[in-house]
Amino acid sequence: MQQHNLHFSEHHILITGVAGFIGSWLAESLLKLKNKVVGIDNFSSGTKENIINLMVFSEFQFIEHDVTRPLPKEAQQDFDYIFHLASMASPFEFPIYPLEILKTNIMGTINIIEFSLRKEIELVFSSTSEIYGEPHDNVPTPETFWGYVNSLGIRSCYDEGKRASEALLMAAKREYGLNAKIARIFNTYGARMRYGKHHGRVIPNFVVNALQNRPIEIYGSGIQTRSFLYILDLIEALILLANTHRSEMVFNLGNPQEITIIELARIILKLTKSNSQVIFRQSMPDDPSRRCPDITKAQTILKWHPKIDLEDGLRRTINFYRKTINSPIN
Ligand code: UDP
Repeated sequence: MQQHNLHFSEHHILITGVAGFIGSWLAESLLKLKNKVVGIDNFSSGTKENIINLMVFSEFQFIEHDVTRPLPKEAQQDFDYIFHLASMASPFEFPIYPLEILKTNIMGTINIIEFSLRKEIELVFSSTSEIYGEPHDNVPTPETFWGYVNSLGIRSCYDEGKRASEALLMAAKREYGLNAKIARIFNTYGARMRYGKHHGRVIPNFVVNALQNRPIEIYGSGIQTRSFLYILDLIEALILLANTHRSEMVFNLGNPQEITIIELARIILKLTKSNSQVIFRQSMPDDPSRRCPDITKAQTILKWHPKIDLEDGLRRTINFYRKTINSPIN
């Protein structure tokens, strides 16, 4: 654990989406810091395996619940903070569950805002770099960029859902003084991310295929870029964000080290010593050509920057998948 400087203990915290990739890591860190955590999830994309390790903490309570409905009585506790993370987030899910994604990000966020206002709870919302859509020349992208998003496109359920969530938070702040922070999270990776054709993200997909010496599939030319943040760096930033008393509301959280998807494939093949072939497939519709955050704001206000570089984070991630897929490389 690298969170040696974090002073964030003895709070009572609700996490929506606790069985997801980010939620499960956040819950574990908060529990280790001696906070009391209630986690909710409907397992639409989160998994029971992700929360097994949380069950050993006596200060953890799990409630199965879909955020599109108002919180059940047992979850209506006097929290100090809510981390509202619940949502599917994989581009593979966008064409399959567009309405569910929109409902989670609109009805779910309304429910969480209303509850936060009633109980005067501070709210941290997981927004996304997706709200910027295609950044064109605005790279590294600052928080002031308005975004270039196709409202009719296949990704719009997620882009516009998250944009609607941001608008709802701003409206509740203006009208009722909601105490909220918005984390615009750029591509994040680490253990426990799902892989596979139907919901996997690029890093777990490449790592698992490389470990099994199966072909790695690049969608498009591979010259599109992303910037990858290791999960523990993100967790640290989210906790710092909750803990800041500054009035600034919106922060990019990501790693400004931008690389092409081809380069990512090359590094993963090298680190796994894999013989996998690289195959090129049709690009995903409306796939952003570049993505890289300007994190000046987080650096200056939260005093945060990513500490784990890509190769280090990838080694940790590869170790996890090597153990869990039970497929030794040859
Ligand atoms: N991608 C790929 N192969 C995969 C999964 C993704 O080439 O198996 C590409 C995808 O088209 C995108 C980039 O990798 O250009 C990042 O995809 P991911 O789904 O991880 O996240 P996104 O940044 O698109 O939300």
